[in-house]
Amino acid sequence: MNTYDLVIRNAMIHTMDRDKRVINRGNVAVQGDRIAWVGEDLPDRCRGIQEIDADGMILFPGFIDTHIHIFQSFLKGLGADHRLIEWLNLSALPYGQIMTPRQHMLAAQLACMEALKSGCTSICEFFYTNQDPDLAHACIEGMRSTGIRSVFIRTFQDTGEEYGMPSIFIEPADRAMHEVEALRKRYHEDDMLSIWTGPDVTWSTTKQGYQTMLEYCQSENVRYSMHLKETEVDNEMCFRYYGKDIVDLLEEIGFLTDRMLAVHCVNLTPDDIRRFAEHGVSISHNPAPNLYLGSGIPPIPENLRAGVNVALGTDGAASNNSTDMLETMKLAALIQKGIHRDASVITADQVIRMAACGGARAIGMEDRLGTLEIGKKADMILFDPRHLKSFPNHDAEATVVYASSEENIDATIVNGKIVYRKGNFECGITETELLREIAVEVEKMKAKMQG
Ligand SMILES: [Zn+2]
Repeated sequence: MNTYDLVIRNAMIHTMDRDKRVINRGNVAVQGDRIAWVGEDLPDRCRGIQEIDADGMILFPGFIDTHIHIFQSFLKGLGADHRLIEWLNLSALPYGQIMTPRQHMLAAQLACMEALKSGCTSICEFFYTNQDPDLAHACIEGMRSTGIRSVFIRTFQDTGEEYGMPSIFIEPADRAMHEVEALRKRYHEDDMLSIWTGPDVTWSTTKQGYQTMLEYCQSENVRYSMHLKETEVDNEMCFRYYGKDIVDLLEEIGFLTDRMLAVHCVNLTPDDIRRFAEHGVSISHNPAPNLYLGSGIPPIPENLRAGVNVALGTDGAASNNSTDMLETMKLAALIQKGIHRDASVITADQVIRMAACGGARAIGMEDRLGTLEIGKKADMILFDPRHLKSFPNHDAEATVVYASSEENIDATIVNGKIVYRKGNFECGITETELLREIAVEVEKMKAKMQG
């Protein structure tokens, strides 16, 4: 008798592998953290310590949210209907200065549990409230407590007061790299937690700052991410100080590499896209905040055609108001169809690939994540289309991208463990209890802001 840790029977399986293999009625076996079997049949006389009969459900690789600011989960709706710089000064920047470690921890649980509930198995936290190292520890602790796979990006700002960057966030880049190093030593990175760094935004980074960070990342083989060309302000600052376009500056200092994850990229030129493809830069496309802040719509089909790897992100909940990957996927498809006046310019299959395989490549884990194949990490979701919004289901990919919501996610499996199933979280935190604790902390946060 072959005994596996988990066996999922009778699911429609979208492997998202190179051959786009779909198994109409198949089985998956998991041993430890890995997929041990995917196929129409299972090995003879096989059983699972845990078994799920997935009859009527669809199995997909887990989605990867490549950009979020977790503390903003406490700030939903603040600064609504303002453009980026004004919005930042009404929400993220003032509140980011006063939130406590406990509030960061609860925000992490809120964001990660919503992510798990919307089919996301990995999340990349872009962390920039660096005034107190305990805030980072609390955020990491909160992420890890939910069972989600995490990338923690400890960023830095070494200028930017004239654009409103609070002085308590600003520090020299070499000191920031010291902090990154301390985090890497403390948390002993593994496949469940990676530590990266990155400049926050172009208007809060000096040329020397980019260079210091780059030297550290090259010598330590660390990946990095940054907000790039989200609005015209990014270039305005760069022209004023360095007399050139930000992508020109980054290319000149050797910053454009396959370790880089560029976020937003609304205003990329055809020449930028060509260089991203040439250097292997990945993009994190965040459609909700780009629309919400009126920043614009990035040239995603153009990037895909040029061979640039595109992943998806939700961004902070202060500029999205949720951490919902399913909604992000729908927006990513619809806005491109609309502005190009071409329904075929981006397909449901391409959007799911961005969320799964594109995300895996963007975080340097395409050999372990992004598809359902033997030997890969068992990160996957069971999607149940039998709900009013999503039934009948004629085309599984169209259903996921255009007609889904949290209620469709029956199970979320991370690293071989069922971390979410039918409304319950394996970590033991209940939604009611979490919201009650957050309500108390939100009142304290508001009182501190007024006082
Ligand atoms: Zn962001």
